[in-house]
Amino acid sequence: IVDAHVVYVPVSEHHFLVMALLYDITELKEIERMQMDFVGNVSHELKTPITAITGFSETLLQGAMNDPKALNEFLNIIHQESLKLTELVEDILSLARIDASPELKLVEIDLRQFLIELLKSFRPEINKKEIQIYIEIPSGCVVQVDQNKLRHVVNNLVQNAIKYNNRKGKVWLKGTIKKDFWFISVTDNGYGIPKDEKDRIFERFYRIDTSRSRQNGGTGLGLSVVREYVEAMSGKITVESQVGVGSTFTVTFPVVLPKKELNNEAE
Ligand code: ADP
Repeated sequence: IVDAHVVYVPVSEHHFLVMALLYDITELKEIERMQMDFVGNVSHELKTPITAITGFSETLLQGAMNDPKALNEFLNIIHQESLKLTELVEDILSLARIDASPELKLVEIDLRQFLIELLKSFRPEINKKEIQIYIEIPSGCVVQVDQNKLRHVVNNLVQNAIKYNNRKGKVWLKGTIKKDFWFISVTDNGYGIPKDEKDRIFERFYRIDTSRSRQNGGTGLGLSVVREYVEAMSGKITVESQVGVGSTFTVTFPVVLPKKELNNEAE
């Protein structure tokens, strides 16, 4: 896409010098389009739970609350939709935060300790679905990370490994330092991801459209936030998966961060 300015410079009474200035605005237009798409998607995603909350509360106020069965059912829907709305707003805020402050706050952590601590908050979900969790991380793996960003990343991956898993499913957390990089991987033996959707799941709002995925209903923003956080820490995220067998998400980071991040640390 090109934007052009044409300038006519008179050089004599009958002659003009025509100068054309061409600007390549492909990238600008692309960013503009992505922002418009994002706003459109956000509005659409917000409207769905808001419509349900408004509709069901109105029905209750108009008299349905006198029927105990309807009262219970509609309140449950209102509660579920409010939770969805909260999750959506939190994900949108996370995305806005990365855009606003990409700098890192680096600290040294022991990987094993960090992950054991993080898993504690999953206890209710793990118990409810009877999930088995295995940790394979040697002690003494000390790495330099932005703790909040890494917590957000692993939380999301573990949450998905539980969410898109069967009852009594298994989740493995592995990690170690290998010479000049370190990694964490989250493996599950759950639903798996179709081959042609493996790249798309990192797009904002993308969800795999199977009835099982829909039932678990997320925002479709989780993995796009994860990828942005991982890349902000100079890392990479990869996924290996097979439908009906399970998935492994691996995040890999350099042991020595590029200068750019180290400068931020000093600020
Ligand atoms: P959501 O909020 O829907 O969970 P994500 O961005 O975290 O959004 O994930 C996008 C989609 O990728 C999900 O809707 C789900 O279909 C698929 N997905 C993510 N993690 C897994 C997993 N561990 N196993 C199977 N499918 C997954």
